[in-house]
Amino acid sequence: MTTKHNFGAGPCILPPSVMEQAAKAVINWGDSGLSILEISHRSAEFESVILKTQLLVRELLNVPENYSVLFLQGGASTQFSMIPLNFLVGKQKAAYLDTGYFAQKAIKEATLFGEVTIVASSGDKGYAYVPDNYNLEKDVAYLHLTSNNTIEGTEIFDFPNSSVPVVCDMSSDIFSRKINVRDFDFIYAGAQKNMGPAGMTLVIAKNSFLETVGHPVPAMSDYRIFRDNQSMYNTPPVFSIYVSMLNLIWLKSVGGVEGIEAVNKKKAELLYREIDRSPIFTGTANVAHRSRMNVTFRTNDQLTEPEFLKFATDRGIVGIKGYRTVGGFRVSLYNALPLSSVEFLVQVMYEFAELKK
Ligand code: PMP
Repeated sequence: MTTKHNFGAGPCILPPSVMEQAAKAVINWGDSGLSILEISHRSAEFESVILKTQLLVRELLNVPENYSVLFLQGGASTQFSMIPLNFLVGKQKAAYLDTGYFAQKAIKEATLFGEVTIVASSGDKGYAYVPDNYNLEKDVAYLHLTSNNTIEGTEIFDFPNSSVPVVCDMSSDIFSRKINVRDFDFIYAGAQKNMGPAGMTLVIAKNSFLETVGHPVPAMSDYRIFRDNQSMYNTPPVFSIYVSMLNLIWLKSVGGVEGIEAVNKKKAELLYREIDRSPIFTGTANVAHRSRMNVTFRTNDQLTEPEFLKFATDRGIVGIKGYRTVGGFRVSLYNALPLSSVEFLVQVMYEFAELKK
């Protein structure tokens, strides 16, 4: 069993019970006498796993009937090019909201396939906020958003009521809060935050949007092929899907997305309260856009940051160092992180501040 308080940004903490079941399945899955790592993905047993995982996604996120749930590979980063390859090619242009590091990566890839309009950018203030006042031209193929900016620590709380299809990268906040899937035509997320181990990418796509693709697309980049083959056009990421299933069963058992959202709010409030109260720490994100998944902050003088990092590490806290290009601290509060770990961190922050008085 892991013994640290893991605030890592991803791959991230999973519930201990999920780890235990996954470990057992690696040795002997159920009574099969086989490891989950060596079973055929075409076996009836695995087919029931993939089906169950799809149903759990549908149930937990209340996915309407006219949307497909797909399990792909290549991480969320592959979606940065696969989306424009499918939906921008042959169209006039696509619109992107530039809210940080991963949004920029998505923009860079999209420019390889067609014209990209950046509707707004928060780059003027170091990506500390999410622009919410922008004009959207009617003739764009889609608007691309990043619901949670994992590195900068900002999150979108109000999604636009848009007349154009909305595509959203939800890699770092999917399953952490209620969403209305109908607000989007296409949602994608790397699994390795709130869903399961790295290796699988979740896609939830409106079928009518998938049908807007009017040109030939290579099979491995064709969403419709994955939809028509139950995400098994080729060998799927079996282990990642299996552990995701276990994790979603866990999520359901703790009250589903609604239940975990309440806990996630509490965790974030507790930590932001300490940051705001503390004489030595300052939050880096605009208060209205503070992420509940990734909390970013610095020490006021920035000089004491290595010292605080060591102070926390010595006490069993891991994964809080800010992203290499940004610095400071980033504390990730994904679903499986217990409230008690946040209480512990807050205590450690308090003790450090006392020491510095
Ligand atoms: N988008 C966001 C918001 C992310 O946080 C990440 C990775 N943490 C990515 C995209 C890239 O995901 P992957 O590593 O699965 O390609």
